[in-house]
Order: sequence, then structure tokens, then C-alpha cells
Amino acid sequence: MPAGEFELIRRHFTGRGSVRDDVRLSVGDDAAVVAPRAGAELVLALDTIVAGVHFPADTSGRFVGHRALAVNLSDLAAMGAEPAWALLGLTLPAADEAWLGEFATGFEELARRFGVALVGGDIARGPLAATVTVGGFVPPGKALTRSGARAGDELWVSGTPGDAGAGLAILQGGIAAGGATREELLRRFLLPEPRVDLGQALRGIASACIDISDGLAGDLEKLCAASGIGARLDCRRLPRSAQLLEAAGEAGSMRHALTGGDDYELLFTVPAAARPGVEGLARLAPVRLIGEITAEPAVQLLGSDLKRDLVHGFDHFGN
Ligand code: ADP
Ligand code: MG
Repeated sequence: MPAGEFELIRRHFTGRGSVRDDVRLSVGDDAAVVAPRAGAELVLALDTIVAGVHFPADTSGRFVGHRALAVNLSDLAAMGAEPAWALLGLTLPAADEAWLGEFATGFEELARRFGVALVGGDIARGPLAATVTVGGFVPPGKALTRSGARAGDELWVSGTPGDAGAGLAILQGGIAAGGATREELLRRFLLPEPRVDLGQALRGIASACIDISDGLAGDLEKLCAASGIGARLDCRRLPRSAQLLEAAGEAGSMRHALTGGDDYELLFTVPAAARPGVEGLARLAPVRLIGEITAEPAVQLLGSDLKRDLVHGFDHFGN
């Protein structure tokens, strides 16, 4: 007999992730009970990933489990928060035990690395989708936001944006690449690495921060709109990986770096006074100065002939 809902939860989602002593009651009751850290502020985020929208429907469970948590940890990273707990809502067309086992493994591997306990969730029949809620801590008043950038601040980015979008293009047949180049770009799409440590290190250094989920240029527009400023982005300074350049060429790699989604890198602004602090970030992640914040509320791209209307980020309900 196929396992029922109760048995699926017991097998795949009980005792997953890190063991935390602030978890009083976990999977098994009607709700979880946790003890927030005294004196800290609680940061909460939720993200849904849907088959056919955020990942190809035939993606291995391990990568989907990883992604479901990674996109949420990336949101906490962008707030400068330390992750603590997660809740998982899963809808599945069928109770495919092998797939669920892989999903749980992908989720758990990442959860353990970042000290996250899976404390509850829900499971239902439906189109394949996973919704995760995460909670974490920041010291009072220290959360990074999108709204703190000021004219004259420097604009920085972590990692090599565009790789994940190129990986997806390879899967979809839009780009041809082979060997180690293909492997690396696929890895960047399938196993995004949330910049959790960098985000926390940016507290007290960055004036504003956003994670790049919908494309660097589009997410930069969001940060600018939230801060009421503009930016001059020097495209010639954009860090592009050797693999991206090889797979997509000069113009294609620029387009991926500016508009490719799913990177989960951090885009942040730094006031001149906080500049010395940036040097110390390099041990956590490669970071690169790519532009500056302007008083005039528009995003200008220097050194790229990319059409302006290509640059807007992904919008599920846009036309
Ligand atoms: P209820 O009917 O009260 O919502 P459920 O049978 O849905 O109870 O869930 C039982 C327990 O299992 C709860 O503690 C819930 O948080 C947990 N749970 C259910 N689905 C998941 C899941 N996908 N991941 C983690 N915990 C889950
Ligand atoms: Mg339930």
C-alpha cells in the first residue's frame, strides 16, 4: 500500500535540518513552538517555487529541495539575518517516494549547513510546488533594507551574475555548451548558494541590499525605487565568469549578467565612510564595485548597448 500523508511526513520531514535548542516543539503537533532569541528582532520571509515556472518540471528532487530553501535563505541574507527555522508547504501530483526522498535530502543538506531546523509544514496533492517560510534574527534595528541607499554611495555585487540564467538556457536548449563549462553553469542554476554569511557581514557596512533573483538590472531598479535614488551601473565592471563568457560570448554574457535571474547574489550599496569594511568581505565572497548611486532617480547603464526595455526584471504578472 502506498504511504499515507502521515507516513510521508514521518519518513521525509521529521527531524530534518539542524537540531536547535530554541525549538521547543517541532513536526508532529498542530504547530511548532520556538523560543526567539532575547533582544533580537525576528525576520520572516516566504517564497514559492512552482514547476514549469521556477524550475523545469523534470528537475531532480534534490535540486528542487535545495532551491526551495535556498531562495528563502537568500531573502534572509539580503536582510542581513541569521537563519533559524523553516516551514515547508509542498503540493505534489503524486506521492513519488523516490522523488520525495531526494527532495528531503536536498533541503536537509542546505538546512544543516546554515543551522536551520525544519519545524513544520503541510503536504497536499496538487501541481508540483514548494512554499517555504523561514525565520531568523537580526540585532534590533540592524536589518538591511532596500530603502537605505543615498546619492554618492558605491554600488557593489557579489559573485558572477548571469551564470544561473545561462545554466537554465543550457537546459532549455537556448545555449550550447559542453564539458566543464556546461557542468559549472548547470550547477550554478541547480544549486544556488545563498550568501548567508556575506549578508550578515554587511550589517553596519551596507546602506541598502537586495538579492538578485529576477536579474541584476531589474533588481537594481527595485532598490533604486525603494531608496528614491538612481544608479550609474558601469557594465564594463560587471564580473563575468570564464564559463559564462565561453558559453554565451561577449554580448550574450553581458545580457545574461544584466537580466538573467536565479543568481541569488547580493547587490548592495556602501557609503564612502563604510568603505574600509568592504575589504574584509572578500574572505566570505568575491565582491566587485560596479557603479554608484545618483540623486537623479534613473538607472543608467554605461558601456552597454543593451536595449533599455530588455533590462526589466522578471514579473509574473507583467506583460
Ligand atoms: P494538520 O492537519 O493539523 O495541519 P498535518 O497532518 O498537516 O496536521 O501535519 C502534521 C504535522 O506534520 C504538523 O506538525 C506539521 O507541521 C508537520 N508537517 C506536515 N507536512 C510537513 C512538511 N512537508 N514538512 C514538515 N513538516 C510537515
Ligand atoms: Mg496540515
